[in-house]
Amino acid sequence: MEGSIRCPRCGEETPAENLSCIFCGATLPHRLGVFSGLRYGWRGILFLVIAGLIILSFLALVL
Ligand SMILES: [Zn+2]
Repeated sequence: MEGSIRCPRCGEETPAENLSCIFCGATLPHRLGVFSGLRYGWRGILFLVIAGLIILSFLALVL
């Protein structure tokens, strides 16, 4: 199980192995998705942690 990706156009859940949405045919942003990040193991997790820290620091500046 690779999980699923939520279509950015129609909002439906599409199996992650599909290149495009099975409902509306929109191209799915695989390389930007959380599931594709986790697929790369520790490097994907590290990327998510860094991205999270950047988002948190941005929120700290705004708030
Ligand atoms: Zn769709």
